[in-house]
Amino acid sequence: MSSNNKVALITGANKGIGYETALKLGQQGVTVYIGARDEQRGNAAAGRLKASGIDARFIKIDLGDYATIDHAAEMLEHEHGRLDILVNNAGIMSTEDGSPVTTEMSVVKKTFDTNFFGALYVTQKVIPLLQKAASARVVNVSSGLGSLALNQDPSWEFADAKLIGYNASKAALNMLTVQLAWVLRESAIKVNSANPNFTNTELLPDTTGGRPVEDAARVIIHLALLPEDGPTGGFFEDDVSLPW
Ligand code: NAP
Repeated sequence: MSSNNKVALITGANKGIGYETALKLGQQGVTVYIGARDEQRGNAAAGRLKASGIDARFIKIDLGDYATIDHAAEMLEHEHGRLDILVNNAGIMSTEDGSPVTTEMSVVKKTFDTNFFGALYVTQKVIPLLQKAASARVVNVSSGLGSLALNQDPSWEFADAKLIGYNASKAALNMLTVQLAWVLRESAIKVNSANPNFTNTELLPDTTGGRPVEDAARVIIHLALLPEDGPTGGFFEDDVSLPW
C-alpha cells in the first residue's frame, strides 16, 4: 500500500514535534488525524495543514480523559475501519520534576498519567484497528532520558538530567514498545520507540540550543513508514539504535 492510502493518528499533534510529524506524513499523502486535547488548538492546527493541501482532521484526545480516547477510536472505526499508523507523541515534562529524593509524588504521577498510562490506553483502544490494516506501524515517542543504560553513563551529555517522573515514564513507554512488539511479533505490525533528541519546543520553554523540529521528526517519519523488512521492538535516534 502506498502512503497515499494510509491513515495516521498522532497524539499531541497541535504543535511541536507532533505537528511536524503530521505535516511530513501529510505531505507524503497520509491522512493525518490531529490528536489534541483542546478543540480550538486542534482545529487550528488541522486548518493550517489543510490549507497546505494535506488531508488533516482534528480528533479530540485528552490523555487525562479516557472517554475522549474511547470516542476517538470509535470515530476512526466509523470513518476508516482501520488505522495504519499510530504515533504516541503527546508528552509532558514538569518544571517541578527532578531528583528521586525530593520530587513530589503528585508530579511523578501526573507525568506518568500522560506519558505512559495515556499512551498505553490509546494503544489498547486502537489495537483492533491496527490489526485491520495491512501492515500497521506504532511509534512511541520516547526520549534518551528514558534509557536506563544512558542514565547510568556518567559521560553521557545529558547525564545531569535526572528527572524521576519524566525519565521513568519514558522508560515505561519503552517497555510498552518491547512488550507490544513481542506480542505482535507474528503479525505485520511493527512497534518502535523514537528519540527525537533535544529539540526546541514548548516542552522546554526557557531552553535554547536544541535542534529544529524538522530534524526531530525525521526518525518518527522513518519508523512510521518502515518497509516490511524494517525492525520491530527497537529504540532509534536518527538512524542509530539506542541502548535500553
Ligand atoms: P510540546 O511542543 O510541548 O508538545 C507536546 C504535545 O503534547 C502538545 O500538543 C500538547 O498539547 C500535548 N499534550 C500534553 N499533555 C497532553 C494530554 N494530557 N493530552 C493530550 N495531549 C497532551 O513538546 P514536544 O517537544 O513536541 O514533545 C513531543 C514528544 O517528544 C513528547 O512525548 C516529548 O516527551 C518528546 N521529546 C521531546 C524532546 C524535546 O527536546 N523537545 C526530546 C525528547 C523527547 P497542548 O498544546 O494542549 O499542551
